[in-house]
Amino acid sequence: MGILTVRLKADATYVLVCTLALVVSGFSRTVAAQEPAADLDARIVKLVGSVSEQRLGDILRMLQSFETRSSLSSTNSTTRGVGAARQWILNEMKSYSPKLQVGFDAYQVAPQGRITRVVDLRNVIAILPGRTPRRIYISGHYDTVARPGGQSASNASVAPAPPIDPDTPTPRPADPTAPLDNLAPGVNDDGSGTALTIELARVFSQSGIDFDATLVFMCHAGEEQGLVGARLHAQKAVAEKIPIEAVLNNDIVGNDKGGNGIIDGATIRVYSEGPEDSPSRELARFVQRWGGRYVPSHKVRPMARPDRFGRGGDHSAYNALGFTAVGFRESRENFTRQHDVRDTFEGISLPYLAQNARVNAAAAATLALAPPPPVVTNERNQPTISRAPSGYDANLKWTAVPGAAAYRVFWREAWGPDWQHEMLVGNVTSALLPNMQIDDYVFGVAAVDAQGHESFVAAYVTPPRANTAIKTVGQ
Ligand SMILES: [Zn+2]
Repeated sequence: MGILTVRLKADATYVLVCTLALVVSGFSRTVAAQEPAADLDARIVKLVGSVSEQRLGDILRMLQSFETRSSLSSTNSTTRGVGAARQWILNEMKSYSPKLQVGFDAYQVAPQGRITRVVDLRNVIAILPGRTPRRIYISGHYDTVARPGGQSASNASVAPAPPIDPDTPTPRPADPTAPLDNLAPGVNDDGSGTALTIELARVFSQSGIDFDATLVFMCHAGEEQGLVGARLHAQKAVAEKIPIEAVLNNDIVGNDKGGNGIIDGATIRVYSEGPEDSPSRELARFVQRWGGRYVPSHKVRPMARPDRFGRGGDHSAYNALGFTAVGFRESRENFTRQHDVRDTFEGISLPYLAQNARVNAAAAATLALAPPPPVVTNERNQPTISRAPSGYDANLKWTAVPGAAAYRVFWREAWGPDWQHEMLVGNVTSALLPNMQIDDYVFGVAAVDAQGHESFVAAYVTPPRANTAIKTVGQ
């Protein structure tokens, strides 16, 4: 291996000067090997360690006690149905800390799709203000559904499953104004994501950490009617220009035993929509990287697709309006319990759910302490990467990010899912890598603060070309 030197030029551009022999013999691996292992933040270690299996279990038993949390169920009871459930969730999160701003994110929804009558639909939202308004979400959906045959019947009905249309109307009930009060315990779908969100509202708000980003703990309603609560909140965020930077959505994350008998309590799937190197894909890579560092006993399995076949989740509601969002899903599902009266506490593994909560906590805490990612496009949305000055170099430029003390450049060959190489550069807004052909690698850059907290990566990607039909003569 040859020698690599990094030199700071007067124009605040990092230039890598490397010998030809080094390039030929795989110089970038040398760079990766020179990187020291990241020091973990003791505050985040403590925060991750304060996730309580006991509390997760208590929350799940309470959620089950409402018997149904269908968004179309009755609201006039204090112990049964969606009205009682949402009030309990609100009160519970309010009890954790005066720093948490807890309230209903409420809408009067008109009949449409699977909404059979005017419904008072309420997400329960808990906001932990940070130093800046940019927002990191941890979410689940607290509403439930149970149908004859459950998800097993849905799976067996067609193969392969058709693309899901969340607006497909279900058969109209005899009396569309009647509440839908059949038993629908929904302890895993999505009591698990809801309990995770509620428990992390406690852990974060009691951590004493002064976060840069504002953290939002969101329990969505109306997911089972077509992501309705998430779509309404995302619509509002667009209209009110609420700066949502990332959404970690958790839906069905509490069971480690597949319906086929296969058990996996040591991994979690994270789905993200494309195209490759979309911000959501970068968020998934970030969860894998930082979840893996703080919770090495739990493996994050990023999935390069929006969700499972024929299934949907609230992260897609945010994606549809341009927000960065990923969906956590348990690795082995038991379809016989989902959307069924059998979705009860007995189907939950608390140690597994707690591990998934810890991965969420590690990723969200790191993101919320880090600066936001840099911008790597110009005002015309073109990537700020070039072959200058030689015509054969990689010349990266990015915007300065408030709070950044350094930046980390990542790259990999342009055929592969994971970053292969990384290099910390100083507080600069460009980097020059001589003789690195930009056409052969994917490049990205993350902002890093003085303590080493890192944003997710902003990647240099070419926007798709617009297609114009070619005109021919005489037609
Ligand atoms: Zn669900």
